[in-house]
Amino acid sequence: MRYCHNCHRITAGKPLFCSNCGCTYRIKLCPRLHINPRAAQICSQCGSRDLSTPQPKVPFALRPFVFLLDAGPGVLILILLSIWMVFYIRQLINAPDNLLPLMLIALALGLTLYAWMRLNRWNRGK
Ligand SMILES: [Zn+2]
Ligand SMILES: [Zn+2]
Repeated sequence: MRYCHNCHRITAGKPLFCSNCGCTYRIKLCPRLHINPRAAQICSQCGSRDLSTPQPKVPFALRPFVFLLDAGPGVLILILLSIWMVFYIRQLINAPDNLLPLMLIALALGLTLYAWMRLNRWNRGK
């Protein structure tokens, strides 16, 4: 999914245009969907002047957030998994008898990641 900084809405999937206001995200597109940089005035491939309006530039502080949305929940789960690893290792050192709750969390995370990967492949296959 992608977050539009023009109208502040999220469009699902990997859209070229915001489904609410019709902005493109980081690029300009001509009517034939050639990709042009934000600074372009004319399409470099077909010469069309009819380029789409890109969304406003994303403030630097928000970029990691936007990146995460673009990358999808898989990255989020990987981050959660690495946080979990830290807890797991600490628990392993301090109280190795009580690992079951952590193992269950890992199982849930693993299953979520697996489900997401299946869903993602299915989406791409369409
Ligand atoms: Zn929008
Ligand atoms: Zn073009």
